[in-house]
Amino acid sequence: MKRIHLQGGTVVNSGSSVVADVLIEDGCVVAIGKNLVVEDAEAIDCAGRYVMPGGVDVHTHLDAPMMNTKTADDFASGTRAAAVGGTTTIVDFALQAKGQKLEDALNGWHQKAIDKCAIDYGFHVAITDLYDGAIADIEGLVRSGVTSMKIYMAYKGAIMLDDGEMYEVLRESGRLGAKTCVHAENGDVIDRISANLVASGKTGPENHALSRPPATEVEAVNRAIAVSRIADAPIYFVHLSTGGATEAVAEAQLNGWPVAGETCTHYLTLGPDLYDLPDFEAAKAVLTPPLRDSNHQEALWRGLNNGTLGIVSSDHCPFCFVGQKDLGRHDFRAIPNGGAGIEDRMRVMYGTGVAGGRISLEQFVALTSTNPAKSFGMFPTKGFVGIGADADIIVLDPAATTHISAATQHQALDYNLWEGWTLPGAITHVFSRGELIASNGRFVGREGHGNYLARSAV
Ligand code: MN
Repeated sequence: MKRIHLQGGTVVNSGSSVVADVLIEDGCVVAIGKNLVVEDAEAIDCAGRYVMPGGVDVHTHLDAPMMNTKTADDFASGTRAAAVGGTTTIVDFALQAKGQKLEDALNGWHQKAIDKCAIDYGFHVAITDLYDGAIADIEGLVRSGVTSMKIYMAYKGAIMLDDGEMYEVLRESGRLGAKTCVHAENGDVIDRISANLVASGKTGPENHALSRPPATEVEAVNRAIAVSRIADAPIYFVHLSTGGATEAVAEAQLNGWPVAGETCTHYLTLGPDLYDLPDFEAAKAVLTPPLRDSNHQEALWRGLNNGTLGIVSSDHCPFCFVGQKDLGRHDFRAIPNGGAGIEDRMRVMYGTGVAGGRISLEQFVALTSTNPAKSFGMFPTKGFVGIGADADIIVLDPAATTHISAATQHQALDYNLWEGWTLPGAITHVFSRGELIASNGRFVGREGHGNYLARSAV
């Protein structure tokens, strides 16, 4: 029976902070209190440091086939990178292939992940093809612990659903107590703008942002909210990037409707200047929706502060610059869409958010851990440092710093969008169910430690 005694740190949860010891036994938190007297425990001095719940990242794409290639991280490298960055739970998107049964899509993802993960993991299922009987098959997913679906309003002819199909998924998921996650962009309009740009010779990666103006997101968010009302179902927007979308979500919430939204690390901290990079390097920032200007960034930070947006995810969807982003060298439409950040999310949000004076410590915990755990059926086992919860815990030293570079990252990627950033704060210890899995930027866990999380309906 292994016991770990975290001594004298500031224990931070989403609602409060207190200086206390934390005792871990058999993978769970068993006591919290001042100056606990404990025998036969490994003691770790946490004075001057924060003891917080490990990160919960509900938006990742590991080992995922997309755009004639597949994401650069599999479940081994991706969860290793997550661990080093202080994330101890992910919920990844199992992507239904054309003609594939939903259950088979889910089983395929189980095969990719089993015995590979360094941290605990769950799945959403991304529904891309409504074969006869698909809607009836949603119930089986929910029974096996997949209590959230995803649909795309963009990428027509590939994975996009039309409004009627979106309505059906919303209605059935809502009936079952499951959540529908929506990628909200007007795919039809984007495809037309993109084709017009290419026809006029504008084929470079910088045109990606021009092809997806803010209104393509705002329109889709408003339309999806309307459809969710018709379906009488809750709706959750992934990766919101604009002030207009944030306002639409806020207005729906004022009406008392079950509408929620997340944004991502990169929309808060990176701007469209990356599309000015020369020599095709702008392709590194070809992710969807695109990076927006500072007005949108400020609106997103406000949305986090006033509670409109409750979750910050990574949308980790990595493609290497050499050999993958390359596929679109002659046509930006063929550049695999996606950025990375499973390793960077917690450190960037602490460094820019908390140390940068934009959010409190407790808000940091809420946005990166507690709210995602609550919203996706994992709380209080995850997202909480409290008695009986899993000992998924990070220790963060606010006096130290973290330097981000592709040369030292664990993500299987040949670049990093935050290259060269030095941020206040460093995560010194990461525990998953009481096991130390990362220490001062080094991975010390093991493949296969992670368990599948069957999630509850919420
Ligand atoms: Mn995504």
